[in-house]
Amino acid sequence: ILVCAGTGCSSSGSHGLREELKKQVEAHQLQEKVKIIKTGCFGFCKLGPIAVVYPEGIFYCRVRKEDAAALVKGLASSQVITRLLYRDPATGHLPRRMEEIHFFQAQHRIALRNCGLINPEDINEYIARDGYQALAEALTRRPEEIIAAISASGLRGRGGAGFPTGRKWELTAAAPSRPRYVVCNADEGDPGAFMDRSILEGDPHSVLEGMAIAGYAIGAKQGYVYVRAEYPIAVDRLERAIRQACRAGLLGDNILGTGFSFNIEIRLGAGAFVCGEETALLRSIEGRRGEPRPRPPYPAQAGLWGKPTVVNNVETLANVPVIIRKGAEWYASFGTKGSKGTKVFSLAGSINNTGLIEVPMGTTLREIIFGIGGGIPGGKKFKAVQTGGPSGGCLPEEMLDTPVDYEALTEAGSIMGSGGLIVMDESDCMVDIARFYLEFSQDESCGRCTPCRVGTKRLLEILKRITSGEGSMGDLKLLEDLSHDVKEASLCGLGQTAPNPILSTLRYFRHEYEAHVRDKY
Ligand code: SF4
Repeated sequence: ILVCAGTGCSSSGSHGLREELKKQVEAHQLQEKVKIIKTGCFGFCKLGPIAVVYPEGIFYCRVRKEDAAALVKGLASSQVITRLLYRDPATGHLPRRMEEIHFFQAQHRIALRNCGLINPEDINEYIARDGYQALAEALTRRPEEIIAAISASGLRGRGGAGFPTGRKWELTAAAPSRPRYVVCNADEGDPGAFMDRSILEGDPHSVLEGMAIAGYAIGAKQGYVYVRAEYPIAVDRLERAIRQACRAGLLGDNILGTGFSFNIEIRLGAGAFVCGEETALLRSIEGRRGEPRPRPPYPAQAGLWGKPTVVNNVETLANVPVIIRKGAEWYASFGTKGSKGTKVFSLAGSINNTGLIEVPMGTTLREIIFGIGGGIPGGKKFKAVQTGGPSGGCLPEEMLDTPVDYEALTEAGSIMGSGGLIVMDESDCMVDIARFYLEFSQDESCGRCTPCRVGTKRLLEILKRITSGEGSMGDLKLLEDLSHDVKEASLCGLGQTAPNPILSTLRYFRHEYEAHVRDKY
């Protein structure tokens, strides 16, 4: 019996369920035949706690610890407990297996390939699913070949900027200075985003393997994972995974007897959103205040302690082993012309199927929200979707057929970002939404440069004026002009993108701003 032990299911009681299942298995003296295995997140967080019973693979949801006795009793007679099955709201059907549920059917899982299927605390389960095979294979090839494969796959940075990963590795490998470093950016801070957390909780070895391959490709011996201290389960599983990989000779000195050495250490972030920006993150690892610095030089030339450094995010690295194992061509067969592969999204806000999904690039927002996401709860009308978190924008209904790829979302006035999707319905005020994001950005601004430090404060004041019924039509013009100034003059990505929620809501929902001003509410 697999029981989800991700943060979502843990918060809805999966730990108690697991304990009760163990007791029931012992009471029925089934220890020889039945194992209770904790897994990472299945993605269907709304339905937690989730348990899947093998060998049939029956998918049970909202399983309480009081259901444990029935579940174990049902094992002996292969009886399916109908009341714990997922009921498809559209058809009323009760699919029994994950593969029969549209939420899973419509996905293609590469980065999430093992999440929910293996025990993330047992390296043998990762190895049994071809884990560390890519590293072993990479070590038999020349580093340039590995970089060429990553370039040919079309993989782009999943942290938000979308810079080609192979190019980044190539630039770092070409930098003359040594030593070189690999840094995994796991400082996920966008409101509503939990992609990286789920990968680290559900499949930490995939990230470690990706880092080791990157290390070999660029000639680095040391890697760091910079992860939020607010992710205790992820940190714990990462620590275990590093220990296990070192014991198995898959990390550390002389990996697999090839002479290649690569060590990984964890650094905990203290919760500053700006530390997700790569130059601030590197300073924080060095023990300094996490403030961005101007680029160039880019980390590929002068990163950690001034040495060439590759900074990749969690999802990017989780894709690397599969690309090496299955080939660049295979990976590039998914997605669109400019955005290859798949993308993980977290679905939050006013949406039925809150959770975590992975779809090929190019899937439309409509399919994500109304197909996989199951639409809007309570029969309410869709109003907008925020992509890219506080750095992104709000897209209205007429943009729902936009395919999710880097260029299409930018053209629509938003950004891909790291993958947080927050859905708004007809009861949400878009000016309030813009104000919420601005409050976040203003609070998280590190204060180093004036356009962001002062500009976001002034923008927030105007928004507060408008939402308290004291704004004027002139404020709308001021808001727009100042937003452009802050975007253009800020030093780092935080300031450069902070006005995006304002600009996109002004573009698509200007009438709501005007209504606040006109009707004074
Ligand atoms: Fe700091 Fe904002 Fe300037 Fe970035 S843009 S350096 S967060 S003040």
